[in-house]
Amino acid sequence: MRYSKRFRVRPGHKVKLADIDPGFHSTHEDEAAAKGEIVTNQEKLRALQYRMYSENKRSLLICLQAMDAGGKDGTIQHVMGAMNPQGCLVQAFKTPSAEEAAHDFLWRVHKAVGGKGTVTVFNRSHYEDVLVVRVHKLVRKGVWSGRYDHINDFEKELTDSGTHILKFFLHISKEEQLFRFKERLNDPTKQWKISESDYLEREFWDDYMKAYEDVLRECSTDAAPWFVIPSNHKWFRNLAVSQILVEYLEALKMEFPKPTVDLKQIGRRYHRAEKDAHRHR
Ligand code: ATP
Ligand code: MG
Repeated sequence: MRYSKRFRVRPGHKVKLADIDPGFHSTHEDEAAAKGEIVTNQEKLRALQYRMYSENKRSLLICLQAMDAGGKDGTIQHVMGAMNPQGCLVQAFKTPSAEEAAHDFLWRVHKAVGGKGTVTVFNRSHYEDVLVVRVHKLVRKGVWSGRYDHINDFEKELTDSGTHILKFFLHISKEEQLFRFKERLNDPTKQWKISESDYLEREFWDDYMKAYEDVLRECSTDAAPWFVIPSNHKWFRNLAVSQILVEYLEALKMEFPKPTVDLKQIGRRYHRAEKDAHRHR
């Protein structure tokens, strides 16, 4: 199944998140059944990222959004874990600092996008400015509602300049979130992740779903699409995200740059050096 088609939000399409099953895992029975495909995707991703880096012509921006414990960290580990750290950037967006808050909302975002040849992952993104900001009424409606256009214009400018953008909403159920909170509570290696706001935000679940639905309708474009990834099963989420990335990057038909030197001449120099090395052994 092509997840890039199935999970992609068509521009202007009204998504009802309640109708999308977060526990969906296609025809794969379990993680073991999907393992081979996941590993193959990771190998392909590594090779594709290497091409992007060597080509040094364009870049990829991956935006990850999810409710708390939605799996952003795990996805980053999975996707970036497959790539060479050289040429990769991960950028997390937290509550804006005083300096950031003194600027327009895209100020901190634009400069966080990697240059040519790089893959950047946004752990949260400029979409927080139409999500948390809207849900908690941090600005007037007139302000946040104008931001969809600003975001689309901004992303258009980026894609026109050679930055490919893919945006993933990791869709988990409210029950799955609670289950993951429990895991965090019981696992000493995860307790550090717990924050008071996790439980506060949970109370606004429905408002968030509504805000996400508007984001998906307003800001999924042909050039910078949104995907809704069923994410209750972490392994299926990894499979779907990696498959979409592979498919998308393969379609770019990236080429290694032509050597900048005359290979014949360099070949002759190599043989001379080899002979010399032999003689002095
Ligand atoms: P985890 O899922 O592991 O808890 P996290 O991404 O939630 O990681 P935190 O430090 O817990 O990281 O939270 C960052 C917080 O910053 C989130 O609550 C998010 O909504 C908030 N935030 C991000 N961007 C903005 C923004 N533009 N305005 C206000 N709050 C923001
Ligand atoms: Mg958090």
